Amino acid sequence: MHWNVGKVKITRIVELETVGSTRFILPLATNEEIQKLPWLIPHFATAEGRLKMSIHSLVVETPTRRIVVDTGLGNDKQGRNVPTWNNRNEPFLERMTAAGFPPESVDTVLCTHLHVDHVGWNTRLTGGQWVPTFANARYVFGRTEYEHWRDYSDTPDKIAVFTDSVKPIADAGKADLVASDHRLTEEITLIPTPGHSPGHVSIHVQSDGETGLLTGDVAHHPCQMAHLGWSSTADSDPALSVVSRRELFSRFAGTPTLVIGGHFNAGHIRREGAAFKYVALE
Ligand SMILES: [Zn+2]
Repeated sequence: MHWNVGKVKITRIVELETVGSTRFILPLATNEEIQKLPWLIPHFATAEGRLKMSIHSLVVETPTRRIVVDTGLGNDKQGRNVPTWNNRNEPFLERMTAAGFPPESVDTVLCTHLHVDHVGWNTRLTGGQWVPTFANARYVFGRTEYEHWRDYSDTPDKIAVFTDSVKPIADAGKADLVASDHRLTEEITLIPTPGHSPGHVSIHVQSDGETGLLTGDVAHHPCQMAHLGWSSTADSDPALSVVSRRELFSRFAGTPTLVIGGHFNAGHIRREGAAFKYVALE
């Protein structure tokens, strides 16, 4: 599953796909409300109004870099709040390798933010130690985001995530802390989109006159394009997350920009009344 933005190729590697059971993350997105948004069906919701979501990584190949954007849940992790996110044993790296991306071939890892479902494969358990999965990669974290979770992780699950999936990268000297509007390559620039987390960033791809947008978790699901105020329970600042959604979607609505979410597949953003809708790409 891949797309091209000029000379940049983007490939989606799925770790987990789910249907329904999203009330814990998007409580306002009831089945009844989702059924009022027929453009979500069938790509992003079922006829019954249950949300389709995924946890995935995006491999972004520019002429000079091979970048993995967000790294899912990972294997062997413990202390997660969602029971099925603990002690996972899935062939995700084998899947990446089969798609042409063995871990050692990756030169850059870029996390849109440092939540549990975006940093898991940063590390793997080897000989009882958490070591960088992508041994030859620099790991790029937003400085604001990194310093927040380093200094303010206050619950056991957040401490576990930072300790097993972020701190070992810094300890190994492989972390590059950058500004939220950092330009990573000629083609790849970060866009600050705080609200879901303090230093959340989205990723702007530009090449040969074409554009792409990797939103991260500005929205967990396209239903939040129609309902900008439907903040997720994971948003650290729900009011700011609404502002970030409005600004980002306004900027790219009605353009041919290829959009891929942190938990939903490729499409285009369109204006719809006072808000937006999302049109799936096949
Ligand atoms: Zn997420």
